[in-house]
Amino acid sequence: MAQNPLPAAALRPVPGHRNGPFAELAPALDASEVRLEANRCLYCFDAPCTRACPTGIDVPAFIQKLATGNRRGAARVILSANVLGASCARVCPTEVLCEGACVHNLDQKRPIPIGRLQRTATDWALERNWLPFGPGASTGKRVAIVGAGPAGLACAAELRRLGDAVTLYDAREWPGGLGTFGIAE
Ligand code: SF4
Repeated sequence: MAQNPLPAAALRPVPGHRNGPFAELAPALDASEVRLEANRCLYCFDAPCTRACPTGIDVPAFIQKLATGNRRGAARVILSANVLGASCARVCPTEVLCEGACVHNLDQKRPIPIGRLQRTATDWALERNWLPFGPGASTGKRVAIVGAGPAGLACAAELRRLGDAVTLYDAREWPGGLGTFGIAE
């Protein structure tokens, strides 16, 4: 796959988009909102939110860390389970997954905004270029992955953690698949 910079056309502001195609659709929670929402969580023992998460993120564990101001710890919980946690925080259909399963719904209360809290934690990591893990000791194995969409990227990250050398191939000039080319408003 070519190591091209993003084509200029991809970064050009698009009429009708806020500040271009990579602008955020929803604002981030501010610090007091993060504290307030994190402290509404009941830290359920059986955590239906976690059971509803396709990547199995320990939701109450990361929310508890946010409630005490530990964004690094929250990011560690999320990214250890899902290296694409920052993307998922923005594009997952949380209303039918983790937030749809939140017990607050049973009391007709607003569910915990899990996706936006997840974004708070993973943005902390992104802004610092921080990951809770690195490549593992080399196994001497080489793996080719065809398709550099979210599944290919997540697979590559897991294999690198285990020490395999990975090469990604993709028909497009940039990796990311739907994450780069296909997410619609
Ligand atoms: S179901 Fe809701 S209240 Fe319970 S742990 Fe998950 S986010 Fe917190």
